[in-house]
Amino acid sequence: MTARWDGRALSEGLLTAARQAVESGVPEGGRPPSLVSVHLPGPSPFSFYLRQQARAAEGAGITFRDITLAPELTAPALRDVVRALDAEPSIDAVILEHPLPPQLGFFGAASALRLEKDVDGVGAASLGRLVAGQPVHVPAVARGAIKLARHHGVAFPGRRVAVVGRSETVGLPIALLLGVRGLGADATVTVAHSRTPDLATALEGAEVVFGCAGKPKLLNRSTVPRGAAVVDVGLVSVPDDSVPGGQRAVGDADGEDLEGWARAVTPVPGGVGPVTVATLMESTVQAWDLLGRGKPE
Ligand code: NAP
Repeated sequence: MTARWDGRALSEGLLTAARQAVESGVPEGGRPPSLVSVHLPGPSPFSFYLRQQARAAEGAGITFRDITLAPELTAPALRDVVRALDAEPSIDAVILEHPLPPQLGFFGAASALRLEKDVDGVGAASLGRLVAGQPVHVPAVARGAIKLARHHGVAFPGRRVAVVGRSETVGLPIALLLGVRGLGADATVTVAHSRTPDLATALEGAEVVFGCAGKPKLLNRSTVPRGAAVVDVGLVSVPDDSVPGGQRAVGDADGEDLEGWARAVTPVPGGVGPVTVATLMESTVQAWDLLGRGKPE
């Protein structure tokens, strides 16, 4: 039987710990942590993620605000928005929701954040620190996915692990967290991507497979080794007339096909997603701590 590695209980535990850290940690003259989420207008697959962030922040005692970007925004204007948030002392943490259209220069804008406020760890300084084995913040989705596997008993040292996807915000940070010297995971990591000619061969021998491609049903019996655990990071909306709204969230794993084949599969929704959101709150509390817990300088 294939286990379902749910993320909701772990997420609740992380949020409770964050709330306790905030409740007991606000110094005299200080304030609770504050997180700002910057995103494009209009509905997107991440509208749901934004609502989750707002709810989780409230539960953790974090002040949350979201900023909708103007539709006609340019890359320099986006960088200015981010710079202004970076300079604002009442804000501890900023997340720039992605994907953004390439002309908006996501990487340049995220890199305008100081290390402490780049709470999703996607700017140049944050990624450099991660590669050097001295991260400050790392992408919440990467930390969340690995946390979920560990929570369900995976010990990575010496294991063969595959990451399917290599974006600098999702797949690559997972591979780095698992393989960079000094971070404790010490796995032997294979990274597959769209130019990998034969996915099944690339994944041979992997005991854990992280799906980060955003391709529904890519991970099935013909690609995943028998007995491997699948941590499904993918999150895509597919049409489904049988559900309210006509859209359903799915990941990269074909759960039905993998039943009885994989050791475990994380569900979508309810697996990596809630742990990612809770991890973002944990990182926000860390940013607040690094920046002096809201006490005026
Ligand atoms: P992305 O930038 O589009 O990257 C997708 C990656 O998958 C690329 O590296 C691509 O290869 C690779 N890929 C595409 N088709 C493939 C195939 N057939 N075989 C092997 N590799 C393939 O997407 P992203 O921003 O990294 O996001 C990945 C997924 O994670 C999306 O579904 C996103 O919604 C989800 N996500 C989930 C959470 C969460 O909390 N659960 C948070 C963030 C993102 P190339 O590099 O060669 O193009």
